[in-house]
Amino acid sequence: MTVTADAQQFLQAGLDQTPCLVIDVDVARTQYERIAHAFAGAGVHYAVKANPEPPLLRALVAAGCQFDVASRAEIDLCLAAGASPGDLSYGNTIKKSEDIAYAYARGVRMFSFDSDMELDKIVTHAPGSSVLCRVLASSDGARWPLSRKFGCVPEMAAELMKVAALRGLDPAGIAFHVGSQQLHPDRWEPSIATAAWIFKVLEQSGISLRILNAGGGFPVPYRTPVAPISAFASAVFDAVRRHFGHKPPSLMIEPGRYIAGPAGVLHTQVVLVSRKSYDDEPRWVYLDVGRFGGLAETEDEAIQYELTAPRGGPTGPVILAGPTCDSVDILYQHAPYDLPLDLAAGEVIRIHGTGAYTATYSAVGFNGLPPLRTVVSP
Ligand SMILES: *Cc1c(COP(=O)(O)O)cnc(C)c1O
Repeated sequence: MTVTADAQQFLQAGLDQTPCLVIDVDVARTQYERIAHAFAGAGVHYAVKANPEPPLLRALVAAGCQFDVASRAEIDLCLAAGASPGDLSYGNTIKKSEDIAYAYARGVRMFSFDSDMELDKIVTHAPGSSVLCRVLASSDGARWPLSRKFGCVPEMAAELMKVAALRGLDPAGIAFHVGSQQLHPDRWEPSIATAAWIFKVLEQSGISLRILNAGGGFPVPYRTPVAPISAFASAVFDAVRRHFGHKPPSLMIEPGRYIAGPAGVLHTQVVLVSRKSYDDEPRWVYLDVGRFGGLAETEDEAIQYELTAPRGGPTGPVILAGPTCDSVDILYQHAPYDLPLDLAAGEVIRIHGTGAYTATYSAVGFNGLPPLRTVVSP
């Protein structure tokens, strides 16, 4: 659900009806420009799943961004925003045959895979396309890890790329993702070394790969600062130089959180402040948004957003929870959060840095609560 409003209505819409995610497209554009500048020469593909708001996609198209898509709907959104199909990479390694055919019919020619069955599907439904094979990567150091769900071991990637070449596909390169909100710039190097090894092995079979897709994972500051994007770019460029030497590949990156995260502020209302006994500390603060309303990344308190209250004054510790009848709908009970001592029902709290992985994660109607509404700044 999107409401586009002019400057005045915009604040109104954001504050009057909570919960509401307010997206500032200029911030996302600036984030794109920052990462594109830091990674000069690399193709920057925005991971659409982070936030697919049409005005945001249009601004990114205008700024020269390319896109990482994972479904038909994301393809349609990008094309409707003015992207050309050649700027889309279908990066999901888990695709239905008909979705591959759909993408191909719309002109998408770059697909990722990590298994022989997926390769089969691409051969059949997207003949002649360029393919990236995704390798397993460690998510150590990432606040939102990706585990072993995606990718295969390097030996298998090399074999699969040989098969891809034999079956008429364009064996373009190797992809990996080091986990989202990856705090450590040096975590890209092991996968870059792995990719270089695969490039070398295939070179011996007469197959020249050309693309290194270093994925997303670039972090944004929530309650704690993170290294600047230039530190991540230097680490990646240094590792490429070290492992590829004189024949550097074309670099591709797929930031999602980095571009969309800082662009969002979630306005939420206090529904209830309570205690479990008359002398109980801390207070429980129930908001009108929670785990099911878009704050899925508070699971295990992995992502700890910055909160601001409307007024100053003395504060005290709180446990923060959402409004639903599910007991996992608790945002923070271990991480220390403080809110004003006289906090009352109806007051609006702002949750910062919520532009990525929020609206897309919100349930459609759990407990009858509507999905998170988004307002885009003009
Ligand atoms: C989600 C995703 C990304 C974006 O990851 P961030 O951590 O948000 O930068 C990039 N590439 C692929 C294939 C993804 O699935």
